[in-house]
Amino acid sequence: MTLWRPTIGGRTLALATTLYLLLACNATFWAHAHAAFGGTTPAFVSFALGIGLLLLAVLVFASVDWILKSVATLLVLISGISSYFNDTFGTVIDRAMIESAVTTTGPEAGHLITPSFVTHVLLFAVLPALAILLVRLKPERFLHRALRNVAVILPALLLTAGLAAANFASIAYVVRQHKDVMKLLNPTAPISAAVRYGLSTVADSNLVVAPFGTDARAGDRLKTADKPVVVVVVAGETARAMNFSLNGYGRDTNPELEALGVVNFTNTTSCGTATAVSLPCMFSGFRREDYSERKARSRQNLTDVLTHAGVSVSWWDNNTGSKGIANLIDYARLNDRQNSPLCKDGECLDGIFLDGLDRKLATIKTDTVIVLHQLGSHGPGYYQRYPDAFRRFTPDCRTDELMNCPKEEIVNAYDNTILYTDHVLASVAKLLAKHEGQVSGAMIYMSDHGESLGENGVYLHGAPYAIAPREQTHVPFIAWFSPSYQKVMGLDQACLLPYANAEMSHDNLFHTVLGMMNVQTDVYNRDLDAFAPCMAKSVSQ
Ligand SMILES: [Zn+2]
Repeated sequence: MTLWRPTIGGRTLALATTLYLLLACNATFWAHAHAAFGGTTPAFVSFALGIGLLLLAVLVFASVDWILKSVATLLVLISGISSYFNDTFGTVIDRAMIESAVTTTGPEAGHLITPSFVTHVLLFAVLPALAILLVRLKPERFLHRALRNVAVILPALLLTAGLAAANFASIAYVVRQHKDVMKLLNPTAPISAAVRYGLSTVADSNLVVAPFGTDARAGDRLKTADKPVVVVVVAGETARAMNFSLNGYGRDTNPELEALGVVNFTNTTSCGTATAVSLPCMFSGFRREDYSERKARSRQNLTDVLTHAGVSVSWWDNNTGSKGIANLIDYARLNDRQNSPLCKDGECLDGIFLDGLDRKLATIKTDTVIVLHQLGSHGPGYYQRYPDAFRRFTPDCRTDELMNCPKEEIVNAYDNTILYTDHVLASVAKLLAKHEGQVSGAMIYMSDHGESLGENGVYLHGAPYAIAPREQTHVPFIAWFSPSYQKVMGLDQACLLPYANAEMSHDNLFHTVLGMMNVQTDVYNRDLDAFAPCMAKSVSQ
């Protein structure tokens, strides 16, 4: 039996592919563009026609047998996959998103491979791609084809130029003011994001890491402390401030931390909306407005400055790695423990930190900073972030397919993750208290970014910062100090109370941790140290 393969002309295939891409893979783009233009205005119609004509011109230009089929297949595959994330989560595929996808771990990515993802990819990417591969292209003599192609491309370009010129002001305004809209267009947005990520990776591959804060040294209080000073820095994941009862949330999601009498800052913003941006930024010592990944990779970070001062620094990771931050320090990955009851399929509950921390605190002899990089509330599989004992808000959404759950079930599952993080943080503080005979301990916690739980149809995180909703940028910032730490460092915890609602951000982490360890260096900025107003100065400061 031979397969029936229809024969069509190259320009027909180009037109069919253009129509398919515009109509089937850009629902979210058209909805946003339509709103940005204020409805079906002449400018919107010109804009839409112009995009169609440009895409057609590109495909006709490529319409040489195998080239056209390869290009069309690739564009359909990219658009079919990308449109799933646009249409399902309202997610924009930008450079940061490509980076997150490339640097994520297998199990984390696995949560996105759901039945509805597979169905969407089959229907919108694989089947149309197979259809393109199946058709035979009508042979055409070179000159004949060239002339006919020009007869399509030239009018298409001229018409586009005419339409753009006629509505230039409106189109330019929308393209400039609504950059987020263009980031939804398939296939151009994912392709340009991937190209930009590729170029920056090549540019970064020969970066030299410059020393930073090499003048750092222990201040008088650290030097004269009777016991090793230990600060545990908990780098949170996807925890949004508004779901913490410490910040006034209607549900009791922080019972253990509230009982401990922690210091809580209610008004803290993140550096980015994705781990790949926020995490390096938090430890870089760059303020958000000055931060770039390239700059951060070009010089040492907080963990190195602490090392210069003689502090022992370790990074324990239960997430997707330190994003280069811990390259020069002691690093341990915790989520490859096969035998622990806390681990499953390459992912572990954050309780995995606690036994090791207990053992480590019992043997510490030097001043130490331990960074715990949590898995926290990472979605969409919120239900996998907490053990049954913390399944307090029910019914909870128990699938990675958030769209299949009512909003309340998504929020219930998410709130259980916060409740469990509350337990993990309180347990860290209790371990520091338990070992107060050996160490003077303190803990500082900030989440890397927040999360959208369906507000305005947006889920997960990673929105471009300029338009990111507060759900994604308002993060928790909590600290706990043991009595012996307060004594050794001259910290007056009650004095911090009036600062609870002060504006804080990831900009503060670098300087606050240096201050907490009484490390003195020219790269320390006291104005950004959240605790400085209530910490006694060292004699030599
Ligand atoms: Zn994150």
